Amino acid sequence: MPALRSGDDPKAGTPAANEVNFPPVQNGVDYLNNVADQLRFGQPSPRNLKYAVLHLQAAAEVLLKARLVQEHWSLVFKDPGTAKRERFEAGDFDSCTTTGAIGRLRDIASVAIGDKPTKSMGILAKWRNRLQHYGLKAPAPAVEVCAAQVLDFLVAFVHDELLPALPGPEAAAVADDLESVGMKVRGVTSYMDTRVKRLADELKDVRDHTVMCPVCEQWALVLGGGTAALDCRFCHTVWAGPEDALTNYFDFAHVDGNVYECPDCNQHTLLVDGAGTAAAPEERRSLCFCCGTDFAVITQCDDCLNTYVPADDDDAGLCGDCLAVRIDRF
Ligand SMILES: [Zn+2]
Ligand SMILES: [Zn+2]
Ligand SMILES: [Zn+2]
Repeated sequence: MPALRSGDDPKAGTPAANEVNFPPVQNGVDYLNNVADQLRFGQPSPRNLKYAVLHLQAAAEVLLKARLVQEHWSLVFKDPGTAKRERFEAGDFDSCTTTGAIGRLRDIASVAIGDKPTKSMGILAKWRNRLQHYGLKAPAPAVEVCAAQVLDFLVAFVHDELLPALPGPEAAAVADDLESVGMKVRGVTSYMDTRVKRLADELKDVRDHTVMCPVCEQWALVLGGGTAALDCRFCHTVWAGPEDALTNYFDFAHVDGNVYECPDCNQHTLLVDGAGTAAAPEERRSLCFCCGTDFAVITQCDDCLNTYVPADDDDAGLCGDCLAVRIDRF
């Protein structure tokens, strides 16, 4: 099935490659092996990351589609309604995207694919396209984290979803390769864990104003730096300022809190009842993305609708400014 081979493989599509006849799952696992090698020793070079992205995307494409074919061959067509058996066998058709394949696996084949790997594979597909057209400009640690997550997911996916349906001899060959990939992946993930722990230790005093990074999903986005640019301490993604980071946080973290002007720094960057912090991951704190203040209690002024910190008892329902105006009137 040449169509299941990635177009990125320089050998794919040539007569020699067809003669080799690498079955799709074995082909995908071979890509994974290469990716694990690129990431294995920590601090991969930009070149390592480039090939990790290309080969991981190729692996995802081949493996997800191999599982779709198990369900029904027509599902790998971009438009299954127009699928024709001869064209499938000849590999002569437009196939669905990786994101499309994930959707079909979840909706039609009832394959459980978590939100996290789905998101990581989506990011990876974008990076791969940019890499093809403009060169990769994403921060290296962000690529590394995302790649490690996808790699980890795909190894489990082959094991749980693909191996059981393969014919005996092919299954045995794949199982052997997969075991060696699995060992390398555990090396990569334990290296990641070490970094995560080290970072947690570094950030232990700023936990009450550290939120989850919307790119790498580590508790590593430290707020409180004012209006200057800020970056994730883990993946080093940079935002132009707190408003920028807040917008991104909204998009990725599915927050339903509201944004107000902060009573402390007067920037429009106070997320009310919406931010989990490293200190209180399960809670929805009211946190300013600019000054980093975590307001235990915050309320809205009856007059001007700005937020303010209410008095302990007998609060008038008005912010300091509006209260002063009222008092002046008497
Ligand atoms: Zn990050
Ligand atoms: Zn503030
Ligand atoms: Zn007011």
